[in-house]
Amino acid sequence: MIEMKKRDKIYINNGSNLIKMTLELLEMANVKEELNPGIKIIIKPNLVVSEKAENGATTHVEIVEAIVIYLKENKIEDITIAEGSWVGDGTSTIPAFKIGGYLSLAEKYGLKILDTKKDNVETVKFDNLNLNVCKSFLDADFIINVPVLKGHCQTKITACLKNIKGCIPDDEKRRYHRIGLSKPIAGINTVIKPSLHIVDGICGDLNYECGGNPVEQNRIFLSKDPLLLDSYLSKLIGYNPEEIDYLNYGLKYELGKFHDKNSEIIELNSDNRIKTYENRNNTKKNNKHKPLAIEKLERFIDDNSSCSACYSSLIFALDKLEASKIENINEKIKIGQGFKKEAIVRTKVGGIGIGNCCIKFKKNITGCPPTGLDVLNFLKQILNNEKS
Ligand code: SF4
Repeated sequence: MIEMKKRDKIYINNGSNLIKMTLELLEMANVKEELNPGIKIIIKPNLVVSEKAENGATTHVEIVEAIVIYLKENKIEDITIAEGSWVGDGTSTIPAFKIGGYLSLAEKYGLKILDTKKDNVETVKFDNLNLNVCKSFLDADFIINVPVLKGHCQTKITACLKNIKGCIPDDEKRRYHRIGLSKPIAGINTVIKPSLHIVDGICGDLNYECGGNPVEQNRIFLSKDPLLLDSYLSKLIGYNPEEIDYLNYGLKYELGKFHDKNSEIIELNSDNRIKTYENRNNTKKNNKHKPLAIEKLERFIDDNSSCSACYSSLIFALDKLEASKIENINEKIKIGQGFKKEAIVRTKVGGIGIGNCCIKFKKNITGCPPTGLDVLNFLKQILNNEKS
């Protein structure tokens, strides 16, 4: 597998045109300098369930389409899309490929589809574990990992490293759950090492990997270092990376480095951040599940034209406050560009405000946008101060 150079950056793009956003990221990261015609490429999306991407669990097919367009422009023809849905989704991933739009994509561009549930298996040794992996990933020259950023009911977050669990057979997935997920998740990433990670941050789920409560962020992320990106993304959705066991194992196994204040983040189209409600009607219309958990949290929010990236930080933070604490928030939390006019008065005004647009509120967390972790710590501090 090709190990890419210059792994120390995170690229972010904002907007609603997923193909354009992804192509801009690939150009910006100059991925083509490390591609050679004739190499064998696997693209690994997240198709954990047979659901449309709007439900918050699976990768938007437009992102993969943009990757294919980019590869073809750079004379790459041997492209396979490979995935194995979760064990409860049946013995075939084909329904998930179909519902996600991947069969049509394969037909349009002449791609191969690989259901990893049917792939040959090879056993590799790692530490004191024998790990069974789908052989096709070992034979690829270049793997592009295209996970969804979402919450996870057991591991807290799923993004780059966790998505590689789709590269193992079903009985091995069951075994991971028996022996504890964290160490084997990191272990499998020492064997299957994607060269590139492009994370779908359009509307990943609040706290459950199978979707149902999509949180709009309208962002796509790219990095060559999965640990750098995962540790950064964990902060966005309200977790300290040290809380995530498999990220700690990733550090131990030298899969990359954690994000810190010196990490370089290159953001494109920050003036094109999508407003929170801009796509909301579409999401609801296409979504057979209503995002009820999010609606419950929204009763604590006074939104006035917020960017969805900012709003998502607040939603992820509120979700992590214990139920007893959240009920102690006795005023609506202000967020959004509409509150900027209050930011031009000299004196602070009463209230709790999120982000730079709300800087003139007496209680404010700065950032444009602040991370979910920043917002969570800020709200905890307010609640603790009110108690004492
Ligand atoms: S602080 Fe920044 S991200 Fe948040 S609403 Fe204002 S402009 Fe948008």
